[in-house]
Amino acid sequence: MSHPVVVIGGGLAGLAAAARLAKVGHQVELYERSETLGGNWAPYQLPSGTTVDDAPSIIGFPAPWRDLFRKSGRPLEAELARMGYALEPAQPATMIFADGAELTLPTDRGGQHATLTAAYGRSVAERWRNLLDRLDQVWQTLRGLGLEAELRSRDQLSRTTRRTLFGRRMTLADLAISVDHDHLSALIRSVAYRLGSVPEQTPAFVAVELSTQRTFGRWQVHPFETSSRLETGRSSILVEALAGRLALRKVQVHLSCPIENIHLHNGQVAAVATSAGDRPASAVIATCDPWQTFNELLPGNAARRTRRQLRGLSPAAAPTVSHREAPMPRAPLRETVNLTEAGIPTVSYLRQLADGGLRTVHDFNATRPRASYGVAWSRFSSWLRRPSVTTEIPGLYAASPASPAGPGASQVVLSAALAAYGGDDYLRHRIARR
Ligand SMILES: Cc1cc2nc3c(=O)[nH]c(=O)nc-3n(C[C@H](O)[C@H](O)[C@H](O)COP(=O)(O)OP(=O)(O)OC[C@H]3O[C@@H](n4cnc5c(N)ncnc54)[C@H](O)[C@@H]3O)c2cc1C
Repeated sequence: MSHPVVVIGGGLAGLAAAARLAKVGHQVELYERSETLGGNWAPYQLPSGTTVDDAPSIIGFPAPWRDLFRKSGRPLEAELARMGYALEPAQPATMIFADGAELTLPTDRGGQHATLTAAYGRSVAERWRNLLDRLDQVWQTLRGLGLEAELRSRDQLSRTTRRTLFGRRMTLADLAISVDHDHLSALIRSVAYRLGSVPEQTPAFVAVELSTQRTFGRWQVHPFETSSRLETGRSSILVEALAGRLALRKVQVHLSCPIENIHLHNGQVAAVATSAGDRPASAVIATCDPWQTFNELLPGNAARRTRRQLRGLSPAAAPTVSHREAPMPRAPLRETVNLTEAGIPTVSYLRQLADGGLRTVHDFNATRPRASYGVAWSRFSSWLRRPSVTTEIPGLYAASPASPAGPGASQVVLSAALAAYGGDDYLRHRIARR
């Protein structure tokens, strides 16, 4: 009998990889060091008993989620419906700029143009539309560079590709200057801060997020019945749906059970050390941060290249998240983003609960480096130093917010898909070689 595939970590990446691998017939064991599943997205309770999470209440780019649920057994819509929920389009966010002006920018192309024309005049609206059209091309290029296929080598970045990505030197700060408008400049710069980085160190192509919102919209988890006591905008409901999927697929989940080491045999993954003893492993999907995976879990002489790459990288800056009960708001969910002149955002979600309201604030003015939030940008070359999903150790795959796809939830779900495909492929070849 072959040994199980071991998944380290029960955050989004671990849950997504485990669900996919179990669906294609592998025996999967998932080890999570904390008492709950979900990682950064785990639900928890306030002293009042209200269930909250530190995830964003609004999700952009839902396709990876839909693919994950479909490929692991049941469409997302059907799974959410069983729990009394649907994934519905969310209202656009209201931005409040340093000078007090407000802007509520729709996500569709025509709506954006009309709103910006009314607010700032035709030439500014046209500059914005041209920029986002240009970013649509960036998106098409990026799909094959870490999102739907792995980014493993600089050879994938031909001269034409680099040109489409605004070249190696242009930063988000430069792009912000090029729009020549204080408000839009702050909005572009905020993309870097939301990724735990600074615009002067973040490559211009990362602004692609502005165009993916326009293409794919913004989504929220919403109860079917408006009178229902179920909650709008608690994104950790997706974690609960995934945990249910793991139970259905008979993934063995070990909570409060950290992995302490990854053992190799002849240079290949052979076992993991848990607090309860060693467990043999046919492959390992590591979804903890890469500094832990490569510097702490592996033997000292393994994966030298990746360790060298990691030395030049530092953890992204995570926002301070707070929750406060509020009077019942009129709308089910509203997002407000206050931007400083430099573009540092404070993102506030106000949502309805069964008997009141809840304000959740993600404050990027008060950040601290957190390895589980991914890697801070330090120019274009830092993209190529992020550890690829297929590692240099046969049988070891790494999917996390530090993967080349990026730290957003949908990107993490895509990295997990690449890890599951890689692991499945590795195991099939191993069986074929026997
Ligand atoms: C700056 C920033 C902005 C973001 N913005 C968005 C956004 O706009 N939209 C969005 O949808 N999402 C956003 N996110 C959220 C992002 O998607 C989360 O980082 C996501 O939850 C990462 O999931 P993960 O599973 O890879 O990592 P984690 O959630 O960190 O999960 C890793 C898990 O591994 C466990 N673990 C660690 N070490 C061990 C060990 N040795 N043994 C066993 N278990 C272990 C941990 O306890 C944890 O549960 C943002 C994140 C960042 C960084």
